[in-house]
Amino acid sequence: MRLANLAGRAILIRDDRAIDVAVASAGRFGPAPRDVLDAWDDFAEWVAGAEFPRGDEFDASELGPPVPDPRQVFAIGLNYRDHADEAGLSYPEHLVVFTKFASSLAGPHAVVELPSDFVDFETELVVIIGRESHRLPSLDAAKSTIAGYAVGQDYSERVVQLQGPAPQFSLGKSYPGFGPYGPAIVSPDEIDDPSALHIAARITGPTADAQGASPFTLQDGSTADLIFAVEQIVHDLSQVVTLHPGDVIFTGTPAGVGGSRGIFLKPGDRLISTIEGIGSLDNQFVAARSERR
Ligand code: ZN
Repeated sequence: MRLANLAGRAILIRDDRAIDVAVASAGRFGPAPRDVLDAWDDFAEWVAGAEFPRGDEFDASELGPPVPDPRQVFAIGLNYRDHADEAGLSYPEHLVVFTKFASSLAGPHAVVELPSDFVDFETELVVIIGRESHRLPSLDAAKSTIAGYAVGQDYSERVVQLQGPAPQFSLGKSYPGFGPYGPAIVSPDEIDDPSALHIAARITGPTADAQGASPFTLQDGSTADLIFAVEQIVHDLSQVVTLHPGDVIFTGTPAGVGGSRGIFLKPGDRLISTIEGIGSLDNQFVAARSERR
């Protein structure tokens, strides 16, 4: 199944059409996406047996983040071998964990303001949790708590991220629009192996023109290069924190981030981030507006 957020309401996407969950279930599930995640096991069982109407056409650019208001957002750093290699760092023995504050979350077609000339991109597989869990006993148990997967971008302002006596990962990665994900939560039964997915990002606009190719491929990797696989991440996080339905985990990025080679996003750029079997994000970038909101 593909569960998405259209104007704050949970929808199922089937054959590119939208089925409103609350309407189709006669009010049993929804209307908000997190209501659906909070009842995930019952919902998944209902979806498996339900008969659905044909659904309505919808404008994909109006999709919001699949869960707009998770209780917790986790992000994992240095979790691809090729990315650790390009950063010149050894592979971590434990999860490197930070948060993206929830106000940074955005829909798959977000237009993102650039607060500086040092905004980088990190294409990531995102995990959405479907069941409250703490101290999961095994990797199988961890896997069964995963509601599904999405494509994410962990946009990062590298100056704020790295300045000061200790790095400020969470702050530098939490400007508005810095956490787009989607286009939908794709349930695990639609993904053969989350550790064998092609993950890529390509750009058009001034940054591509400066590289002499449009579109220009920025990242081209595989989740096979993950150091901690998705079930390991869920298992290890749960040894410390209680995970809740709807929690969002950005699982790290493969090689090709801009900071390692002096490529940063520019106003007028358009970045397409894609993961095999899940879908794409389509983000455009504009200069920051000066007025305060
Ligand atoms: Zn990241």
